[in-house]
Amino acid sequence: MTKTRKTALRTACAVLALALAAGGILLLTRGNGGNPPAGGITLLLDGAEMTDPVLAPEAGDGLRVIVTADGNEIANLPFGTEHTLQVIQQSGTNTVRITPDAVYMEEADCHGQDCVKMEPVTRDNLEMRVMGGFIICLPHRLSVEVRGK
Ligand SMILES: [Zn+2]
Repeated sequence: MTKTRKTALRTACAVLALALAAGGILLLTRGNGGNPPAGGITLLLDGAEMTDPVLAPEAGDGLRVIVTADGNEIANLPFGTEHTLQVIQQSGTNTVRITPDAVYMEEADCHGQDCVKMEPVTRDNLEMRVMGGFIICLPHRLSVEVRGK
């Protein structure tokens, strides 16, 4: 294979990956109008079970970490404050870690482990990551987004 063809192939793959990611984000953030946590979702914040969506007050630089399951917002936390959020759904379990510097999927029992392998979101890479501020678990219809005000 020539060098040009390889580059073209790589570009095509990158475009395809982007399209898939964008589609996934659209699919996951499109709400179904229900009140979360709904439909048998168990939400644990630092080990404590939450009966309502978690909305923590503003802190630090105003960046937020927004977690949605099946299109419903289940947590909205400040970026930079240590938290471990466990989302247990019928489809499976995800553990989202927020540290002072990053947000990442610590653990998941999904097939493929794509969400766990995704690059952590930091303040520095937020603009440059292929997926922007998103970490998504398609099999569990779970999305994590780091978003400014
Ligand atoms: Zn996953």
